Amino acid sequence: MKTDLLYEGKAKRVYQAKDKTGQLVLDYKNDATAFNGEKKEVFIGKGRLNNEISAYIFKALNEQGVQTHFIEKLSETEQLVHQTEIIPLEVVVRNVAAGSITRRLEIEADTPFTPPLVELFYKDDKLGDPLINDEHALFLSDVTRSELQEIKAKALEINQQLTTLFETVDLKLVDFKLEFGRLASGCIVLSDEISPDTCRLWDITTNENLDKDVFRQGTGDLLEVYQKLLNRLEART
Ligand code: UDP
Repeated sequence: MKTDLLYEGKAKRVYQAKDKTGQLVLDYKNDATAFNGEKKEVFIGKGRLNNEISAYIFKALNEQGVQTHFIEKLSETEQLVHQTEIIPLEVVVRNVAAGSITRRLEIEADTPFTPPLVELFYKDDKLGDPLINDEHALFLSDVTRSELQEIKAKALEINQQLTTLFETVDLKLVDFKLEFGRLASGCIVLSDEISPDTCRLWDITTNENLDKDVFRQGTGDLLEVYQKLLNRLEART
């Protein structure tokens, strides 16, 4: 199903799909990293969990009419996607204050944002993915001003859809990161992954973290909480 390795990132390997031009195979790895790669550990089974969770979420978004790169899950750790050229922006949506914004702006953790905030970060490991504004994003990427507005509007629409989806499994979507990519046609679609590596998800009743914060903060068992999240999603009617 896959041929040449095109790229290896922190969480996934990207291969050209065999006999299918314009399609890629994403193979999810077992590595967990935090603090820009400073903290690293291997969790056997993490690749399967994130592949299953991300496939579940992208399928739900596709069914709701969001244009994404996702085609289908191929195996425990692999999925087939449309090839896109990734736009080097990390689009973060925040419903509640947590993580970097609490430190950067001294906003008390748990403060709700109504309406939600959209932030842009420049995807560059050596710079530590700095926060940027729209003008920087236009300079640093090939998106037009109207495409940037479209990306931010899409991120907010996806936030509404995901907030509703996670509410059905008693989880609060605190914040998450999206990446967008350009298809050969020029069209911009949602790419990369949506998983507990890229979202903060808190149990609505207990505030338990079902996301990578248990690894970042050393407060829980990553495999156990990712499995718990997958079980909740799979139990949805
Ligand atoms: N995030 C991500 N990749 C990154 C940075 C952030 O997926 O390189 C996600 C992170 O999991 C969280 C949201 O984006 O759900 C906001 O992260 P934040 O800016 O608070 O940074 P962090 O506290 O994770 O360093």
